[in-house]
Amino acid sequence: MGGGFAGIEVFAELRSFASALVGAYDTISFDDTRFHLIEAMGRIMPEVSLPTSHWVLKNLDKRGATVHLDTQLASAVDGKIELSTGQTFESDLIIWTAGVMANPVVRGTDLPLEERGRLRTQADLRLVDENGEVVPDAWAAGDVAAVPDLSGGGVGGYCVPNAQHAVRQGKRLAKNLVGVIRGDAPVDYFHKNLGAVAGLGLYVGVYQYRKLAITGFIAWVMHRGYHGFAMPMWERKARVFGNWIINFLFRRDLVGIPARDVPREAFEEFAARPKG
Ligand SMILES: Cc1cc2nc3c(=O)[nH]c(=O)nc-3n(C[C@H](O)[C@H](O)[C@H](O)COP(=O)(O)OP(=O)(O)OC[C@H]3O[C@@H](n4cnc5c(N)ncnc54)[C@H](O)[C@@H]3O)c2cc1C
Repeated sequence: MGGGFAGIEVFAELRSFASALVGAYDTISFDDTRFHLIEAMGRIMPEVSLPTSHWVLKNLDKRGATVHLDTQLASAVDGKIELSTGQTFESDLIIWTAGVMANPVVRGTDLPLEERGRLRTQADLRLVDENGEVVPDAWAAGDVAAVPDLSGGGVGGYCVPNAQHAVRQGKRLAKNLVGVIRGDAPVDYFHKNLGAVAGLGLYVGVYQYRKLAITGFIAWVMHRGYHGFAMPMWERKARVFGNWIINFLFRRDLVGIPARDVPREAFEEFAARPKG
């Protein structure tokens, strides 16, 4: 639950997955499924403009999902959901996607942390203490690092925790390390965002760059294309694109969650020698 980018993507993808499931099994109808998105803020997807987020809300509504804005999850005991508005309903599955935090492992170190628990990092990806002094031989990149966003677009002045920054920072860090070993000064990390793109389940997406918004199928193709090509290494890209093509041709490979929890059960039931 939660309306950030990743949260909405997971939610919309699950909604899409349910449609695939309903299509694959005669015994389930779409009326057997319910989707509720609980969002504490008054809007979803702060990364896109307000009108684009309204388009997403309408689209989710059309696809049978209920979005509760300005609402918090108060309790989820024994599958009974209670909301801050007083509404209650039953749920078999709860997905919690509220907020990204730095990996807590860094709290167990003596490395300098900022208020949100991320490593205090300067733009060249070296760690700095509270006085701005460089910590020798200590570097950081990705979600765990508070890296200043020199493009001026970052929330609170820092790079947002996403893969676009993490992958680029990783490359910058490697180059800086090699440079320092060779006696060169490290170079500052700089990346200017070219917009936000998200998939909202099969064939639906949104893209936003400043005032330009693209919604629907074209945005979904952009989302798939961008994420596929952003995947590091050609071997990985081939696996991802290959899987998408296979899923398109033969439908998704569905596996029940119980079968995942007890993978030997079906094997033991059907492969056991008849007793007696
Ligand atoms: C559902 C979801 C959707 C997302 N969608 C997008 C998107 O569309 N676009 C986008 O740009 N970003 C997206 N993100 C964010 C993106 O995944 C992260 O920003 C990115 O993965 C950060 O990379 P990282 O290398 O810093 O951290 P991670 O990818 O989290 O890698 C950290 C690694 O460290 C390992 N680790 C942790 N503790 C230890 C330890 N003690 N010892 C050794 N290893 C350890 C972990 O297992 C993990 O493999 C999404 C995130 C989520 C959860």
